[in-house]
Amino acid sequence: MLTSPTRSEAVVEPRPAYRAFSATVSAVRRLSPHFVRITFQGAELADFGTAGLDQRVKIVLPLADSGFAHFPRTVEWYRDWRELPEEQRNPFRTYTVRAVRPGLREVDVDFAMHGETGPASAWAASVQIGDESLIVGPDDRSPGRTIGIDWRPGDVRTVLLAGDETAAPAICAILESLPADAQGCAIIEIPTAGDVLPVAAPAGVSVRWHPRGGGIPQGGALIPAVRDWTVRKVQGHPDDAPTPLDDIDVDREMLWDVPEGHSLDGEFYAWIAGEASVIKTLRRFLVSEAGLDRRSVAFMGYWRLGRAELD
Ligand SMILES: Cc1cc2nc3c(=O)[nH]c(=O)nc-3n(C[C@H](O)[C@H](O)[C@H](O)COP(=O)(O)OP(=O)(O)OC[C@H]3O[C@@H](n4cnc5c(N)ncnc54)[C@H](O)[C@@H]3O)c2cc1C
Repeated sequence: MLTSPTRSEAVVEPRPAYRAFSATVSAVRRLSPHFVRITFQGAELADFGTAGLDQRVKIVLPLADSGFAHFPRTVEWYRDWRELPEEQRNPFRTYTVRAVRPGLREVDVDFAMHGETGPASAWAASVQIGDESLIVGPDDRSPGRTIGIDWRPGDVRTVLLAGDETAAPAICAILESLPADAQGCAIIEIPTAGDVLPVAAPAGVSVRWHPRGGGIPQGGALIPAVRDWTVRKVQGHPDDAPTPLDDIDVDREMLWDVPEGHSLDGEFYAWIAGEASVIKTLRRFLVSEAGLDRRSVAFMGYWRLGRAELD
């Protein structure tokens, strides 16, 4: 029922699956106090991947003196980028495609604004229409074009989507892709009540926005909401011997525990992303306490409080 969309194989030709696309910033729209939507536009985006869902991309940030002149436009862009002298290495950060309009050669990305503490948030706060930009993303003409998609629900009946403001773009895009008879819940923690975004979800999937408001720490709204929903709605196996979990140090490693290619039993699938220590807490609760099958939950640390994204 909830499998990822596929498309005809007819037009596929060998190409790099994930590559740099040049574009221009064509719109900057403040959606709410903490969300800004940036639209990228350019001829190269005619071939940008259209699979949607939680499609991740790299937003490359310009260097003050050389812009994007040194960024490798090669198949092995990451290896080639690492080999550049440090002063020629553009920083980049991971974001989610919120919408793609191939006919208009446009891609939208929603930025959760958190001040000017990182290169991506600072860029999003100051970018102007007409600025040059660079996105590394999927090439729709490549056989590997679904690279960077972790939403793999199989044929389940009930879904849980949960995350903070950085996961909101992915959750909204996934919600809009669900079939009309999907069931479940989306739980999204946002900075303030003014950050609720419009999203079209099937009638059977409730969408709950939980503002942190002043004084509530990151995860303080998400964790209890996910616990509460899971305890009431999902049949786990809490009396079984707890599944052993590796104790990931989220300050040193990325928390990325995504089931690969398992065939699920048709009941439940959860997708959970956000601040890494919050996701670690939820992982411990859902797997070790509530007894959920690890193969039915994707846990993704999207960022770590106090640490820049690791290249
Ligand atoms: C697969 C994936 C998809 C993502 N999709 C999106 C998306 O669509 N929209 C989006 O906004 N983010 C998204 N993120 C999160 C985004 O990559 C991080 O927030 C990233 O750290 C922002 O880069 P920066 O340059 O602003 O800050 P960095 O240089 O990485 O960090 C600088 C400082 O800012 C802090 N920081 C980073 N992000 C936040 C935050 N959101 N709130 C408060 N403090 C923060 C860090 O802890 C650090 O102390 C995604 C991450 C992943 C892995």
